[in-house]
Amino acid sequence: MTLSQRDKKHLWHPLTQHKTTPDSLAISRAKGALLYDDKGQEYIDGIASWYTSAYGHCNPVIVERVKKQVETLDQVVFAGLTHEPAVELSEKLVGILPSNQQKLFFSDNGSTAVDVAIKMALQYYFNRGEKRQVLIALEEGFHGDTFGAMSVSGLSVYNGPFEDFFLNVKRIPVPTVDNRQEVLNQLKTILDQHSVAAFIYEPLVQGAAAMKMHDPKGLDSLIGECQRQGILTIADEVMTGFGKTGKHFASLHLQNQPDIMCLSKALTGGMVPMAITSCTLNVYNAFYSDDMSKGLFHGHTYSANPIACAAAIAGIDLLKSQEMQQNIQRVIASHKAFDQRIKNHPKVASTRQCGTIYAIDLAVNMERYGDLRKKMLDYFLANYLFMRPLGNTVYIASSYVITDEQLYRIYQGIENLLDTVV
Ligand SMILES: *Cc1c(COP(=O)(O)O)cnc(C)c1O
Repeated sequence: MTLSQRDKKHLWHPLTQHKTTPDSLAISRAKGALLYDDKGQEYIDGIASWYTSAYGHCNPVIVERVKKQVETLDQVVFAGLTHEPAVELSEKLVGILPSNQQKLFFSDNGSTAVDVAIKMALQYYFNRGEKRQVLIALEEGFHGDTFGAMSVSGLSVYNGPFEDFFLNVKRIPVPTVDNRQEVLNQLKTILDQHSVAAFIYEPLVQGAAAMKMHDPKGLDSLIGECQRQGILTIADEVMTGFGKTGKHFASLHLQNQPDIMCLSKALTGGMVPMAITSCTLNVYNAFYSDDMSKGLFHGHTYSANPIACAAAIAGIDLLKSQEMQQNIQRVIASHKAFDQRIKNHPKVASTRQCGTIYAIDLAVNMERYGDLRKKMLDYFLANYLFMRPLGNTVYIASSYVITDEQLYRIYQGIENLLDTVV
């Protein structure tokens, strides 16, 4: 039996309708921007395995650091105990985060990072004797699949069966250059009429919404308005963090810094799962008390796992290196040049870029999970490219170490798709 056949016996894959999905491709190893299947065929990973392996798969710097850690301290309770990897990571991460972020809380994935952020925000007011129940989120935002994170997510394709069980969330449109003032007015109206705890947003790029990009000035004014009114702001940088937008964090493109930030995905460079919710001293101090019950009673078994911390430390060292920064600039320039070539193609409706993330909306009508999507997925795999178009959007969000030749193969693949498939 092949691996794909054995897989089918007991495994249930994420975001998959098994009845209509063909066999899963078996991947046996990965290096840099390449995946290798069990027959040794290589594929270019055009989405850095869901935006995690930003510095390339099996990056030797991360591998070395993790190897050392594996032999020293594997796992230990993080309540009452601490360890060097967690402390070193806190020093390094706070060094690159927006300067108001001073305290770090660990969890395991992007969704839990968001759930923690929501609990921080709700309890922040609770501890001060205020009950605030409403959260504000952007339309088409995606914040994860656990209940809190799902509640603030606005992508109804995922939420259908659960909507009756959600937290109380009011949604506002994504700000554009044209509707900026109108969205700000909508926000003000919600703030007037409801008891709002927090505003959560994916800064600059909404990943799961198909790499939708928005107006930084518009977002800045929404954050500013919340902060003027004492409403906490939560930047979900699970996808945008660690260099994707050209800066270490998307929030650094804005004037107004968030009160709380959610980090995961590239935090460990794709080595192992981990997440962090960071916050300001102001948020932290609302929990700092002689009263036990004012603490944040949330804790995951694997909080600050030393191996994950070691991977994250190596990841930050890589991100800050001159070589990686040059790679980021190279990828940005390369996408820009490709954009010049492709944007006037008759099958292209529009294109957009934010740092290393590049997206093309095709001039075709289709459903998010319709036939054309399957055709495009098949086409890319047949051309040895691992790409996952979202709706009629084809996007590239590769690792920064992808070579020029590999980028060229992706561009060729997209051009050929436009000419022959869609
Ligand atoms: C992926 C993602 C999440 C959820 O992270 P998981 O690790 O999949 O739970 C949350 N927010 C954003 C912006 C994401 O891109």
